[in-house]
Formats: sequence, structure tokens, C-alpha cells
Amino acid sequence: MERLLCVRAVLVSFFTAFCLLFSAKKLPFFATLASMKFVCDEMLKGLGRWLRAAGYDVAIEPDGTSDRVLLERAKEEGRILLTRDRRFAGELPATDELVLLECNQEDDCLQELSEKLQVNWLYKPFSRCLVCNTPLIEATAEQWERVPDFSRQRATRVLYCPTCKQLFWDGSHVQRMRERLERAAGVT
Ligand SMILES: [Zn+2]
Repeated sequence: MERLLCVRAVLVSFFTAFCLLFSAKKLPFFATLASMKFVCDEMLKGLGRWLRAAGYDVAIEPDGTSDRVLLERAKEEGRILLTRDRRFAGELPATDELVLLECNQEDDCLQELSEKLQVNWLYKPFSRCLVCNTPLIEATAEQWERVPDFSRQRATRVLYCPTCKQLFWDGSHVQRMRERLERAAGVT
């Protein structure tokens, strides 16, 4: 009997935590899943690239795209629109697709996203093209040959973007980016 009560207590705590997660933060269910997708306004392009580095699907619209167009895209594609534009956010009806960030510095933005949306900065690191958002694929032997000698000799993996034809390999730049993702994730 005691054991049954204990199990019930655990289930009640879990359910309470679950309800708090969705009610307190007023987030749509999809926003808490690892597969959430984003669209960024022009003020948050840098943050958008960090989300791509973490493996998230992030649309970054060209500069000057109107706020309404951004929001339409978010709704049509099930994306979360990230903005720091308080005026824009204030003019719109409250919607689950819009998340207003208060941060100024990029590190603070990474932290704020961890807190507001439980972004996992180690979701699928370096699985997307940082330039165009396309999922990367393993480079062929022929594509490996395009990597400069110095880097190719040290690289353990080379990935290829089938859209913009860029190659990415695990050099020192990627290592520095990975360390920043780990810091944002609270691992180091
Ligand atoms: Zn690309």
C-alpha cells in the first residue's frame, strides 16, 4: 500500500510539473519538443545561426522583411517567431507563435532561449548548414578532396550542403563553436 501511494505521489508530481510547464510559460505543445522550428527577424540573425549550429531548423528572412510576413511564415510552417521588437510584439494579438526576447548580448539571448523555450544547445550540433539551413549529408570521397590539405589531414568528418554546395569539417573553428554550445547548455 505504501509503495502504491509512493507511485501515486510520483505520478501527481510529474503531472503537476507537466501542467506548470505548459501553463506558466504559455507555450504551445510543439514549442517544448526537440523538433521545434524558428523564424528570426533581422535583429536576431546571429542568434538564428547559433540555433542552426545546435541543429534547429531556422528560417532567417532577408533584411527588411515586414513583421507581418514573418508572422505569416511562422504560422504557415509551424515555426516560432523570435523577435526583440517590443513595439512589433505589442501591436500583434497574443499568439503562441511569437516569442519576445529581452536580451541584448548574444550570450544572454542563448541563456534566455534556454529558459523560455528549453532550447537544447546540444540537440544535433552541426547537422545543418549555417548559411542556408539545409540538413547536411556526409561528403563523398571526391568532396573530401576539396578540403585544404592541412584541414583534411586532421578532420575526422566532412559534411556537405546539397543546396549551397559548402563543405564543413571539424576544425578548430567548429571546436570553438562546440565549446560555446556546451557553455550555453550548461555542460562546461
Ligand atoms: Zn547550405
